[in-house]
Amino acid sequence: MRRNLVIGNWKMHGSRVQATALLDGIKAALNEIPGNVGIGVCPPFVHLELAGKALGKSRIELGAQNLAQADEGAYTGEVSAAMLEDLGVKLVLVGHSERRELFGEDDAVVAAKFVAARRHGLTPVLCVGESLAQRQAGETERVVLSQLDAVIETVEQSEWNNAVIAYEPIWAIGTGETATPEQAQEVHATIRQRLQGVSEAVAENVSILYGGSVKAANAAELFSQADIDGGLVGGASLKAEEFISICKSADF
Ligand code: PEP
Repeated sequence: MRRNLVIGNWKMHGSRVQATALLDGIKAALNEIPGNVGIGVCPPFVHLELAGKALGKSRIELGAQNLAQADEGAYTGEVSAAMLEDLGVKLVLVGHSERRELFGEDDAVVAAKFVAARRHGLTPVLCVGESLAQRQAGETERVVLSQLDAVIETVEQSEWNNAVIAYEPIWAIGTGETATPEQAQEVHATIRQRLQGVSEAVAENVSILYGGSVKAANAAELFSQADIDGGLVGGASLKAEEFISICKSADF
């Protein structure tokens, strides 16, 4: 069964003091969020240990923003899935558009990272999405499906179990511009349909999140769509109150 899920992507923001305060704020309001809503936070690597300690046994899942393809070795600056597992990380973003655009991660790298996450029992959150130029050229479906197919062609069917996909149109990330619920639903339905080609069970079990300027004011409308199972939230996840409000909207 796919689950309702809201994940905060903190990106490269915050000191240790700020990270602790944000987590304290979220934990303090946790009982306001219905139990059927899964919650995850992805702090920067350097804050993962303190975040894991702060979260303790709370239902908030610890996530990372990236991982290496390899498990260990001479890869200066990289962090492996094994290291994340060792820290108690449960979720990991794979192929965020900022990784693809700014750090040259192509579909093959993204697929290898998905597999690396699975080797260590981490839940991959596979990010896909088109640029503004691609949308304007009518290429949204082709782009999103080719990003998805690169992973489908690489991984075993069983590796999709309870994985998560985030549809994040690049033109909506950090811009304040959000896809309309109808635009997002159309792409989510296309993704779900493609997963049906893997298996009915996979299509049913994979949560598909929307990401791109989700905030308290637009979350409920987006999440009301049939194939939108929650959100991947950047900027608005840095304010406890706003993030809590978005999480509450995922009770559907
Ligand atoms: C993101 O970073 O995945 C994201 C969706 O950012 P924002 O919510 O700020 O658009």
